[in-house]
Amino acid sequence: MRHHGRDHTQAETHVLVAPQDSCASCGGVLWIGQWRDRYVQTLDKDLYLIMKDKRCSSSSCAHAHLRYRSPQEGRLVLKDHEFGLDVVILAGEKHLRENLSIPRIYKLLRDQYRVPICERSVGNLIDDYVALCECVAGDTDRLRTRLAEQGGIVLSIDGVQYDDRSPVLYVQRDVLSREVLYAERRLARAADDLVPMLERSRDLARDLGIPILGIVSDKERSLVPAIAKVFPDTPRQFCHTHYLKNVAEPVEEEARTLEEAVREVVTSLRDLERRLERQGSAHEVTAQVSPAPAPVGKTTAPDAPAGPSGNAAAAMPEAEVAAALARAGTTVGKVSGRPILEPAGLKRFRRLEEVRCAATKAARKKGGPRKAAGL
Ligand SMILES: [Zn+2]
Repeated sequence: MRHHGRDHTQAETHVLVAPQDSCASCGGVLWIGQWRDRYVQTLDKDLYLIMKDKRCSSSSCAHAHLRYRSPQEGRLVLKDHEFGLDVVILAGEKHLRENLSIPRIYKLLRDQYRVPICERSVGNLIDDYVALCECVAGDTDRLRTRLAEQGGIVLSIDGVQYDDRSPVLYVQRDVLSREVLYAERRLARAADDLVPMLERSRDLARDLGIPILGIVSDKERSLVPAIAKVFPDTPRQFCHTHYLKNVAEPVEEEARTLEEAVREVVTSLRDLERRLERQGSAHEVTAQVSPAPAPVGKTTAPDAPAGPSGNAAAAMPEAEVAAALARAGTTVGKVSGRPILEPAGLKRFRRLEEVRCAATKAARKKGGPRKAAGL
């Protein structure tokens, strides 16, 4: 897969769906109205984003022309950009705060982060960052006309920071048009400090005579009360990703322990698989290994390798099935999960349970060496 001359074979696909289900204007059902896709290079990944934007299903609705988009896209990347916001912030902060030259930032991105970028683009990133830090696009005629036409704003407010010591870049975006309205880089982070910044968006909507339909933000301590103060009656929602991450926090340690246990089982299954290959005899194996999947009756695993002949051959169907089950175990030990909702460890555990069920069932059918197999 190549795009703009770049290799995207390793790109990680993410599907971003607008989270709303009903229209903010008429309450009607929202349908997926368009698909978009783009590549985004972040500091650690090449992402292939597929966006499923929604629109109101009622053609008579005042918002029928609006496209509802996932706010996640704007958190990752600015409109019409190839590099993620994290790359822009790194380049900008290195330049503004540490006075690093463009060639040095270029070298840092190429060598340390493996970001495929050219030196000229690094200069552009810094320009973009400086422009973003003082962005007042909400005051321009072009954007005001666009916002007035679309009839409402869904405001996303994000505080992004390069590291703990650097100032926070607060970005206020309209999710519907994907435009940045206002952004500011500031050190102070008390709630009252953030109020004037939020009031700009409130005043913009008032000036244009359009509603702020909703607000999406992360759960930053000072941002939440500031939003409540400036927008007391506007529906607010925390970003799903941030919210789920917070919810998942208490179980993180257990998930790690589970993942380690799964890894151990998979390692012992891999050993079993190797031993089976070497010995070619189901009887020897069941006597030696526990907790191994049990040998099974006459069924032959579909992709089991051909075995040796002679005395061992009589036992082969069982050995083959045992080998196939061990192989299934090692294979499911490699499945990848989707972080937060479906951690890899949990997914592997469930798949391993399925393998164990299959093995137990087979052993029961056979009525044979369940005990020896440790099931
Ligand atoms: Zn509608």
